[in-house]
Amino acid sequence: MNFTSRIQLQQGDITKLKVDAIVNAANSSLLGGGGVDGAIHRAGGSQILDDCRKIIARQGGCKTGEAVITTGGKLPAKYVIHTVGPVWNGGNKNEDQLLANCYINSLKLAVEYNVESIAFPNISTGIYHFPKDRAAEIAVKTVDDFLKTNQQIKQVIFICFDDENLQLYKDLLGNGS
Ligand code: ADP
Repeated sequence: MNFTSRIQLQQGDITKLKVDAIVNAANSSLLGGGGVDGAIHRAGGSQILDDCRKIIARQGGCKTGEAVITTGGKLPAKYVIHTVGPVWNGGNKNEDQLLANCYINSLKLAVEYNVESIAFPNISTGIYHFPKDRAAEIAVKTVDDFLKTNQQIKQVIFICFDDENLQLYKDLLGNGS
């Protein structure tokens, strides 16, 4: 398939990226956790948790597939968009749509906040055990479809932490990306 050149692929640590917004694979409590969530809170400092607590007070956390936005704190990124991926439960619990919703709702929020560059981790493919190949296909297709209808977002980086995800995204996006 031919994907827009606004989609790029990188391997590494999302907390190091100097983009307008990075996306966090959060949990519904918004209080932090392991994996990429822990790394973002550690690197970004307590301002992120302060903002999360304000959101909790207002709306009591974040549902699966939805997204909220906070400061980037000490991160190079201006904002963190926290989205809650689905826990893989065999595939018949609406997991595919809920994962797509994470990408769509994060991008919608990004547009609202005038974000032009945004980086996504491989949501749900760690502790939540979503099959990596299936998650990568959903991620790429959902983002590409969104970008077709939106010109504001100039750059979307898929940042892969592990080699397996990197290879899956390379295969999907083609080597030129
Ligand atoms: P989830 O609970 O949504 O599965 P995890 O944080 O466990 O979230 O994993 C999501 C993905 O984030 C995994 O593919 C994991 O390898 C990756 N990851 C972990 N730490 C980082 C990091 N610092 N930067 C980018 N990706 C990361």
